[in-house]
Amino acid sequence: MSFSLAGLQARGEAPAELPPIERVGVIGAGLMGNGIAHVCALAGLRATILDIKPEALERAMAVIDKNLDRQIKAGKIDAAEKAAALARIATTTDYAAFADCDLVVEATTEKEEVKRAVYKVLTPHLKPACMIASNTSSISITRLGASTDRPEKFIGMHFMNPVPIMQLVEIIRGIATDETTFQTISALAAKLGKTTSVAEDFPAFIVNRILVPMINEAIYALYEGVASVESIDTAMKLGANHRMGPLELADFIGLDTCLSIMQVLYEGLADSKYRPCPLLVKYVEAGWLGRKTGRGFYDYSHTPPRPTR
Ligand code: NAD
Repeated sequence: MSFSLAGLQARGEAPAELPPIERVGVIGAGLMGNGIAHVCALAGLRATILDIKPEALERAMAVIDKNLDRQIKAGKIDAAEKAAALARIATTTDYAAFADCDLVVEATTEKEEVKRAVYKVLTPHLKPACMIASNTSSISITRLGASTDRPEKFIGMHFMNPVPIMQLVEIIRGIATDETTFQTISALAAKLGKTTSVAEDFPAFIVNRILVPMINEAIYALYEGVASVESIDTAMKLGANHRMGPLELADFIGLDTCLSIMQVLYEGLADSKYRPCPLLVKYVEAGWLGRKTGRGFYDYSHTPPRPTR
């Protein structure tokens, strides 16, 4: 389905004017949260990042600084744009800082109970018009929206990792999401320089419905002794022309996130083909979550990283 605000307005199905999005709150200062704040600030929005861990906020600011430098080196922005973007980003551990936000993008851990608990504390601080977008990779937008005080202003806005580089944003409407919210968030994605794909509210939407079972299958291939980590990644890079091998990609996404997505697919679609590989479960239980913990299918204490099996 394609998005045409003019077309919808002409048919009287969309508001003539969309509410402005100038102040954005981002919850979760992990891999995704820092990227979301980065692209919002570069596009001229004010972004406030909140996390329960102050050290995560410090790390996020350091990552944003480094990624802006990369964009300067690549000739995409200049030093003045970097300074202006950084000046538009604030960090906090206090939800009171979100009182003026027009939109809050939630990018906390991929666990439904974490997200629900966050919305409970968040919503009393928001103005009534504030929209909430979840960056969830897989969880039902309808169910998450229903747990807030504003399901009609709740939507899925699924950025890809790394956010400043990846072109796509998936937009997912819950059953109660209103047209103004859909149009506003679609227009915001365009303002951030992204292309949108609209997905219905099914487990894991489009990209992860297809991508994460492929990663899970690669882990099964390793688990069953079909091939080594290196052989699997080389085979898919050179044989399927993928930029990264599936195990390298799993480490990049985070093994906890991959497991959570498989669990949502398995439970949500009630089909045994989505059962998470026991080896993936074991790695997550061991705290081997991939790049972010320094160890997953590769050991990142070496340069280049070494396969761990
Ligand atoms: P992450 O583990 O890197 O970061 C999560 C952050 O949330 C951490 O800093 C953590 O301290 C914080 N957090 C946890 N509980 C919190 C709470 N109660 N209040 C405030 N902050 C809290 O995870 P991530 O990879 O950034 O993923 C975040 C979301 O984005 C998930 O829903 C995930 O599915 C989605 N996502 C991830 C990717 C990916 O490739 N990693 C891609 C697209 C979407």
